[in-house]
Amino acid sequence: MKSIADYSRQLSLQWMNESRQASIIQSRVLIFGAGGLGVAAVSYLAGAGVGTITLVDQDRIEASNLHRQTIYRVADIGQYKAKVAASYVSERNPNCAMSGLTEFLDLQNLHELFEQHDLVLDCTDDQNFSRLLNALCLVTGKLAVFANAVKMEGQLFVLDPEINKPCFNCLWPVGQPQGDSCNQLGVLGPVPGILGSFQALEAIRILAGYHSALQGRLLHCDFLSYEFSVFDVPKNKTCCHSLCDLDLESDFDIYLAGHVPRIDQSLCESNILVDIRTKDEMRDEPSAFSALHIEALKLAENPHKFLEKNLQYLLLCSSGKRSKKLCNDLLQTGYEVTACRLH
Ligand SMILES: [Zn+2]
Repeated sequence: MKSIADYSRQLSLQWMNESRQASIIQSRVLIFGAGGLGVAAVSYLAGAGVGTITLVDQDRIEASNLHRQTIYRVADIGQYKAKVAASYVSERNPNCAMSGLTEFLDLQNLHELFEQHDLVLDCTDDQNFSRLLNALCLVTGKLAVFANAVKMEGQLFVLDPEINKPCFNCLWPVGQPQGDSCNQLGVLGPVPGILGSFQALEAIRILAGYHSALQGRLLHCDFLSYEFSVFDVPKNKTCCHSLCDLDLESDFDIYLAGHVPRIDQSLCESNILVDIRTKDEMRDEPSAFSALHIEALKLAENPHKFLEKNLQYLLLCSSGKRSKKLCNDLLQTGYEVTACRLH
């Protein structure tokens, strides 16, 4: 095992000591998103000695990611981001126990993960997921550090559910869009790198036992003018006053709907449609599209009996939950499948 002396540069800071370093080493951090924000954050957190990191991301590395996601190499293209990042971290700090999760997580899985960690980082650039993450943090009492980066701007916000501070939904009320992501608007590589580093900076301070200066406050960074501003976010009178107001199921369904398209003709034209619902469901709610029928359980048990690896399949269920989960499992074993939903 590494000696604590390896952290000597941060230990020599006036506000650090061995007891605070021990808190960092004992801490467990959950990170969603292994893109430009996530790779910067995970690299610094592992370097600082965080003992346990779980990084969740279902995407594989693409060539267009490399300009901003600096731990990935050309040779990694096609690999799962979370797995490559975990391998990178294991070499960067072998004392950090890091897992890269690539499976689809349902609400119960997510709830369990939140319970098992001390602090959550939102590096997803997905507002619907940020709302779900916000609700899960309020329910489980976990701190969260949110960030986003687009074009030449970035924002940072810290949620502390223990105190009467505004939450992510107070900042971005439901129905008020946060804006498009860097996929639509573009981003210069260092911008998410800086914001991800800011996330790690706040996380390390919190894990060392300090309050973040950004609890309930929004840092906005403009990298064209180099104007950095901090705003006090007002607590929304109709938001997060009681845990009873939270609807995790609804937040989860909205997040999922953003990732699983509703079935339409164009999707069916380029794929073989497989309806994975039960016979009763199909009778009660017939689909207008002709499909093979293989129930989800049967398909999960023996995919090789029904699917060929060189063909593209589209799996249909009612809400998208079962089709998304099954697709994720089948993708890991080499099948070309995508999910869609009836509603
Ligand atoms: Zn709120």
